[in-house]
Amino acid sequence: MSRFWNARVHELKPYVPGEQPKVPNLVKLNTNESPFGPSPKVIEAIQAAADESLRLYPDPEGERLRDVIAGYHGLDASQVFLGNGSDEVLAFIFQGLFQPDEHVLFPDITYSFYPVYCGLYGLEGKTCPLDEDFRIDPNGFQPPNGGVIFPNPNAPTGIFLPLESVETILAANPERVVVVDEAYVDFGGESASRLINRYPNLLVTQTLSKSRSLAGLRVGFALGQAHLIDGLSRIKNSFNSYPLDRLAQAGAIAAIEDDHYFQQCRDLVIDGRAFMVEALEAQGFTVLPSAANFVLCRHPAGSGDVLASHLRDYGIIVRHFDKPRIRDFLRITVGTREQTNALVKALGEIL
Ligand code: PMP
Repeated sequence: MSRFWNARVHELKPYVPGEQPKVPNLVKLNTNESPFGPSPKVIEAIQAAADESLRLYPDPEGERLRDVIAGYHGLDASQVFLGNGSDEVLAFIFQGLFQPDEHVLFPDITYSFYPVYCGLYGLEGKTCPLDEDFRIDPNGFQPPNGGVIFPNPNAPTGIFLPLESVETILAANPERVVVVDEAYVDFGGESASRLINRYPNLLVTQTLSKSRSLAGLRVGFALGQAHLIDGLSRIKNSFNSYPLDRLAQAGAIAAIEDDHYFQQCRDLVIDGRAFMVEALEAQGFTVLPSAANFVLCRHPAGSGDVLASHLRDYGIIVRHFDKPRIRDFLRITVGTREQTNALVKALGEIL
């Protein structure tokens, strides 16, 4: 606390991100990173970009990267906005595209950053309850509101909302921005990017942190009609007009161009998820149906925090949430076969 802080900062609860441990050799299944390294072509591209040109500012428009992303999604470069991770893109959306005089709507069990951004930018958030199966109810997001946001697949449930239901939400809120946060969409969902030319209120966010194995490079983007992208650019340019540094732009282009490597890693994660779900169910866990690179599961014999702390003693880190309805659950990132085997072995001894 300091008397130099403004009232809004006083109100902020410090955000605690998922643990990034300093000790090696832990089985790290807590923050939904990829268990695989990025494409070797990404490393080559970053090494090639690490030359004397670093003395120059990067391309403020990120033109080549926006072209590559637009081409991948069948859109125009004017429909792509870049950010330092999708978290930064989300921050700009909360800052300038949601209307401050009404509540911003999001699911009651969802990405924990949404209420943080509401607090930071002086917005009120209002939650829409998930149904008894932990699914998003598309009819829950009704006007009046200042905007709508939800992850698809949702986090931390991993459950995917079909695009017909996304359209229900878009159609119910024609005067407000509806943000579909697709951080995990590549692992079994279907992107709403193909709806963009039909819905002027749709903004889709994606990241290279998960399915492209680049959490450390901090690259995310938004897709939407040009008028929404222009709004985000205005907000960003008033803050820091350089979106991504030279190394990130070079690495991100290579990551999107290496589609073969991307597909291989994604398929391994999807197979690894099936293997993990089967093993957990065999041990008596109930596992929510996940379309993401993590699963949310619960065991009748132990609450989330107790199981997580036992696993920690075995050198395995998973996530649990001190939140109503999911207190008893663990969220476990899909790792390599060896990591899942280590998890299952430890659980066998704990349970
Ligand atoms: N949205 C969701 C739902 C997430 O889980 C995350 C990662 N924790 C993000 C956005 C942000 O990812 P990044 O900033 O790495 O792109």
